[in-house]
Amino acid sequence: TGGMGYIGSHTSVALIEAGYQVVVLDNLDNSSEKVLTGIESITGQTPHFAHTDLRDVDAVLEVFNEYPITSVIHTAGLKSVEESVTNPSKYYENNIGSTITLVKAMQTAGVSTLVFSSSATVYSSSSKPPFDENAKTFPTNPYGMSKYIIEQIMADLALADSKWRLGILRYFNPVGAHPSGKIGESPSGVPNNLMPYLMQVAIGKLEKLPIYGDDYETPDGTCIRDYVHVVDLARGHLAALEFLENKNGVHFWNLGTGKGTSVLELVKEVEKVIEKPIPIEMKQRRKGDIPIVFADVAKASSQLSWQAKYSIEKMCADHWKWQKHYSDSRQ
Ligand code: NAD
Ligand code: UDP
Repeated sequence: TGGMGYIGSHTSVALIEAGYQVVVLDNLDNSSEKVLTGIESITGQTPHFAHTDLRDVDAVLEVFNEYPITSVIHTAGLKSVEESVTNPSKYYENNIGSTITLVKAMQTAGVSTLVFSSSATVYSSSSKPPFDENAKTFPTNPYGMSKYIIEQIMADLALADSKWRLGILRYFNPVGAHPSGKIGESPSGVPNNLMPYLMQVAIGKLEKLPIYGDDYETPDGTCIRDYVHVVDLARGHLAALEFLENKNGVHFWNLGTGKGTSVLELVKEVEKVIEKPIPIEMKQRRKGDIPIVFADVAKASSQLSWQAKYSIEKMCADHWKWQKHYSDSRQ
């Protein structure tokens, strides 16, 4: 689900390259059918595509009837923290509603393996980095709360029926693009997240980068995050699927690099790639930002044999390649 989106399209590529037959279910709310061409030109195969809203029970059941589906990777969802604060019911209705529909359809179709896109936003700001999977959870916005509630629903499903094989992936900060530059992130409107904003300044679409706070207790005063290459993330879904082949119950994994990068460090990395300075503007702190977030990745490493391979330089270089050559033609 959500296979036309940023993370879903890279995951589709990884699945096809590993020999899986992929069916993408997406309502194209935040993506375009052109993504299929990108996937096709990378892999030589076009995934089956169902232009379907996950909240439409009958339509989702039809997809399960049409294809011999064995496992589901559920990346569909709305993801803007800002919008979720102004329109919480939209987020609860779409993210939770669609997951419930999906789970019911899976039960009807007898499919019990599900990998879900959760987020590091479920962790409490009172936890100390690095965050391991047992760190305190306390989402502070409706988007994060929708992820947290879905995690709870999945835990309850596993308690109710031991057939379920459920993997919850808590992504840290996904960035980058496929090294071919043929698929990547296409945010609509002005981006909220740092990397897409930075890239639009780099290409001259936006004038300067606002930096939200340089007075945090970090070495350069700006916030620190754990950026992870989207291609590494995509591999993480395959590792989770393989793990679930032999294990039932519910399992949680952080997907990050375990390394923190500050806002100013990321700006410097992008400047190296584009070989020119990025205009910046220091602003007040953004409400709700946690100073330092990075993952403890030991569990994914030991249970899934998964580790992020790509450096921050590679993340910036691949994201830039997508931005420079392809992103506009896909919007
Ligand atoms: P995205 O918006 O690029 O992709 C999500 C896809 O889901 C889109 O193609 C959209 O059209 C589709 N979709 C949304 N609602 C749907 C519905 N009701 N029915 C069918 N399709 C629907 O987002 P992304 O960055 O690829 O994120 C994928 C998942 O990972 C999301 O659940 C997001 O919350 C989660 N996540 C993303 C990040 C991030 O920074 N990108 C971080 C942590 C977690
Ligand atoms: N940030 C920034 N300028 C921007 C967007 C983000 O300074 O235009 C900062 C933000 O304050 C945070 C970091 O970059 O400290 C990462 O923000 P993002 O929204 O990408 O991820 P999240 O906060 O969800 O981890």
